[in-house]
Amino acid sequence: MRPLQPLLLLACAVALFTLPMVWGEGDNESKPGLLPAVAQGPKWLKGNLHTHSLWSDGDDFPEMIGDWYKRNGYQFLALTEHNVIAEKERWIDAKVDESNRGTALAKYLNRFGESWVERRVVDVKGMPTSQVRLKPFREFRSLLEEAGKFLLVPAEEITHKYVKAPVHMNGINLRDTIAPIDGASVEETMKVNLRQVADQSKRTGWPMLAFLNHPNFGWGVRAEDMVLVEELRFFELQNGHPTVYNRGDSTHASCERLWDIILALRLGKHNLAPLYGLATDDAHHYLDYGKSKANPGRAWVMVKAPVLTTEALLKAMQAGDFYCSTGVVLTDVRRDKNTLAVKIEAGAGITYKTRYYVTRTDTPLESKTAKDKDGKPITGTFDTGVGEMVLETDALESSYTLKANELYVRARVDSSKPQYNPGEPGDMERAWTQPLTPAKP
Ligand SMILES: [Zn+2]
Ligand SMILES: [Zn+2]
Repeated sequence: MRPLQPLLLLACAVALFTLPMVWGEGDNESKPGLLPAVAQGPKWLKGNLHTHSLWSDGDDFPEMIGDWYKRNGYQFLALTEHNVIAEKERWIDAKVDESNRGTALAKYLNRFGESWVERRVVDVKGMPTSQVRLKPFREFRSLLEEAGKFLLVPAEEITHKYVKAPVHMNGINLRDTIAPIDGASVEETMKVNLRQVADQSKRTGWPMLAFLNHPNFGWGVRAEDMVLVEELRFFELQNGHPTVYNRGDSTHASCERLWDIILALRLGKHNLAPLYGLATDDAHHYLDYGKSKANPGRAWVMVKAPVLTTEALLKAMQAGDFYCSTGVVLTDVRRDKNTLAVKIEAGAGITYKTRYYVTRTDTPLESKTAKDKDGKPITGTFDTGVGEMVLETDALESSYTLKANELYVRARVDSSKPQYNPGEPGDMERAWTQPLTPAKP
């Protein structure tokens, strides 16, 4: 074969390189703009990080619960079953009848249809028994998730106790189920189980976050137990379950008071990082609503993140870029150097009070006299200076600048609007910011 002329070769090469470019320029599909899911930049994302389904002691199917949160304006949801991640092959007894399970199945069929819901009849001890498949997380997430709009996060409520004290902690974005392990005290029970989450995160390379749930449930965990657990960076300040005593009682401090005591001791005495507060539903009941039920929609977090991914959400939360709410919407929370600023979205006919709380460096941080029956100090017996209110305002926009002798400042916004179906009767809609600590010089 006669060799090609060098000039012809050059022409062919030029044509090969230029043709695709010419085609590309005329083709809009090859030059898309920013993906819609990342186009908006940082925004407030609403989520619930404490939810139970039929995989543990909740009364509805996980897809129904995810669907509820998605339809009710949430962008993310963590399913936190007791000591299990929904990942196995599992069937439960259920037929459409008058029972709670039967009602749940009828609603499930109505919403997801026969093509999704899997049913069978099996022989159980000689009796034909109707069963329905509980779908694992990996299977149902693709049906509900939407880029930039709704995200499901794998999680678990690591459910344990020390003697009689319940010690429940949520591990968020777990890859593998964690079996709780014993510690020699409430404090150590938290420590060893938080370390299990940290170890799994290190081993897998998955970012994870863990927090202590409902400290006042069964009066299980006192401020004194939490102060020195360095691994503990988050706790539930507000939990929507009706039996968790967010407000405390005559001898136990409220969760908000626990928070101030822990912040005061960590920052003023032990040189430890601050603790951040969370609001969650701890939802179990989706069929009947009322004050004795643990219903969805009572308490949530708003996280300021650039995109809706688990990684971005966890990173923002680690940085304290989130607030808690039971109804009040904040359009802006700035934690800028030494100033905490809050901007409220006004609701028609609703009034607001924003209160700022601090603890000063010279506050005596010794617990006072009260002791429980085991001789341990009862939380909340600090009688001066811890979590003192320094500013109260009706304004929709307000701010507070830390003084040199203050350890932290945090804000709470109370509205005049009663919370719909609250976990504790009489609760009004509220929001809480995270504490701001002095900027490092
Ligand atoms: Zn719990
Ligand atoms: Zn729970």
